[in-house]
Amino acid sequence: MSLVQKLFSLEGKTAIVTGANTGLGQGISVALAAAGAHVFGVARRSCAETLEKVNAVGGTFTEVIADLSDMSAIDKIIAEVSSKTERIDILVNNAGIIKREDAINVTVEDWDQVINLNQKMVFFLSQAVAKRWIEDQKGGKIINICSMLSYQGGIRVPSYTTSKSGIIGLTRALANEWAKYNINVNGIAPGYMATNNTTQLRNDASRSEDILSRIPAARWGTPEDMYGAAIFLASDASAYMNGFTVAVDGGWLAR
Ligand code: NAP
Repeated sequence: MSLVQKLFSLEGKTAIVTGANTGLGQGISVALAAAGAHVFGVARRSCAETLEKVNAVGGTFTEVIADLSDMSAIDKIIAEVSSKTERIDILVNNAGIIKREDAINVTVEDWDQVINLNQKMVFFLSQAVAKRWIEDQKGGKIINICSMLSYQGGIRVPSYTTSKSGIIGLTRALANEWAKYNINVNGIAPGYMATNNTTQLRNDASRSEDILSRIPAARWGTPEDMYGAAIFLASDASAYMNGFTVAVDGGWLAR
């Protein structure tokens, strides 16, 4: 194995990716599997399409059905994955929702749904996995999917902005506590990507044009654009990276 292969290989590793049935979670699953990891994809519906894409790159994938809006999902996921593998090496906290509404009209119910999934679940799933890593003293990798709205205010998505701004802080906070256990906690902040998350935006001609004209790369991102950063942060190549969030945004933040 060359030095480059050694640095980036995920051979023999096991990864959990939440929200693996579609969009960026699907892209991340394909990338980690292509690099050699066995991926456990958590989703509330079938991951058949992801399985097909993973198989197409010669990787392996197991679906774990769980609704992450319910905190009891954590024990279920850990139990199911642990029954099929000795060890979890990588956790990608990707599942997330967005609710578009003027701040003045946001309901408590919608607020709680976004914060519970995008923030509370990320923390407690990370905690559950990190407990095992601290116990077995072998370390691990956590990748939190942040957003441009970890840095900016956004328009008509106050609960989402709150959750994603929180996650970039959480990424730093967990890195501060867990780096000494050889646990790397880092984030990826995708820019404007063509997935279900942005369907509404892309269907709104004026918003879509505004966004596109502000992206230096002059195109929406794709799940494939996540491949490089995901493999990097899941592999030994990022061994001395702790608490940092990498933007994959076609230059949006550089403007
Ligand atoms: P997406 O296609 O809507 O994917 C979101 C994923 O989360 C889906 O797999 C979804 O499952 C899952 N999910 C939602 N609620 C769930 C629940 N209660 N239990 C289990 N899974 C649940 O959008 P995406 O763009 O790929 O989003 C992935 C992550 O990237 C999110 O955290 C998002 O905030 C973040 N992000 C996206 C963009 C962008 O421009 N697209 C930019 C920055 C950050 P279902 O298919 O069942 O809903």
